[in-house]
Amino acid sequence: MAVFVYAENINGVYKKAAFEAVSYAKAIADQKGDTVTAVSINPTDSPDLLYKYGATNVINVKDEGLKNFSAKAYAQAVNEVANADIIVFPHTTDASSVAPMLAVQKNYSLITNVIAAPESLSPFQVKRRAFSGKGFMHAKAEGEGVIVTVSQNAFGVKENPVSGSEEVKDLAVANEDTKVLSHEQSSGKLDLKEAEIVVSAGRGMKGPENWGVIEDLANTLGAATACSKPVSDIGWRPHTEHVGQTGKAIAPNLYIAVGISGAIQHLAGVNSSKTIVVINSDPEAPFFKSADYGVVGDALQIVPALNEKIKAFKG
Ligand SMILES: Cc1cc2nc3c(=O)[nH]c(=O)nc-3n(C[C@H](O)[C@H](O)[C@H](O)COP(=O)(O)OP(=O)(O)OC[C@H]3O[C@@H](n4cnc5c(N)ncnc54)[C@H](O)[C@@H]3O)c2cc1C
Repeated sequence: MAVFVYAENINGVYKKAAFEAVSYAKAIADQKGDTVTAVSINPTDSPDLLYKYGATNVINVKDEGLKNFSAKAYAQAVNEVANADIIVFPHTTDASSVAPMLAVQKNYSLITNVIAAPESLSPFQVKRRAFSGKGFMHAKAEGEGVIVTVSQNAFGVKENPVSGSEEVKDLAVANEDTKVLSHEQSSGKLDLKEAEIVVSAGRGMKGPENWGVIEDLANTLGAATACSKPVSDIGWRPHTEHVGQTGKAIAPNLYIAVGISGAIQHLAGVNSSKTIVVINSDPEAPFFKSADYGVVGDALQIVPALNEKIKAFKG
């Protein structure tokens, strides 16, 4: 039985998290000696993009009724085509709300936020993040089937080209629960949860007028911008940039925290980052305890100087 994977797209365009989930499904399929079937809802991107990461079959669900996202309706659509005992989802906001619905519909186990290929397939056992990223656990699935969600930027996107084929399925799933009243588009050029580098700033920046240096550094590094909760609460930055326990949880390769104290609620959303750099004027700021590299000094001097150095290095 093939390993199924939900390849998420936004407005038809595959997300990086979809490629990571396909890469993960391919690792399981290789363990099983099987193939990967990817399912996507109304994609406009070419299926070649999924063959590249190891999906041998791509099921393209065409359903006008699913133009607007609804976890329940999407779970029903995936349920109609996903005939597998292992189903992989990316741990994105949308996909991680579809996965539990599908687990209920199929009566499968659900293991969220997995970060490595399974330790065994029978029984299915895998390492996952726990306690807001402060710890790990080894979860074992019971029962007939299992659904996993793959933590973003944890397993990685791995090219594994196969020759594949596409199947188009016309569905007409009832999607009556969700009415989209407004749609808030993130202001940054890059999706915060997918970004490999994030430059984030807090109340230490003193005011929104000083954010130019943060954006300049982010542009130089090709990074997304983020902020602490009070900064978005006061309205200095949009809520889409708020990271932490009550905001987005991210795990970039590099997280640069500028003028952020490092409260536990902030750390809960960023402590899975691979490398953390902290810039803070207070040498006693708690964030330094979680930092790989720290700079003590005034952000308004350090950040532009760092930007110039990186530009010179790149040049
Ligand atoms: C239930 C609950 C949920 C929460 N959820 C979140 C969450 O999801 N995300 C989140 O971020 N917070 C969250 N918080 C708030 C959290 O507890 C902190 O209050 C918040 O993270 C502090 O934001 P900050 O670091 O920007 O500001 P501050 O704590 O005011 O820290 C500012 C930092 O800037 C430094 N600084 C000052 N001037 C400069 C300068 N010139 N150059 C460099 N550094 C300077 C200071 O030394 C200080 O360390 C939550 C709180 C609660 C109670």
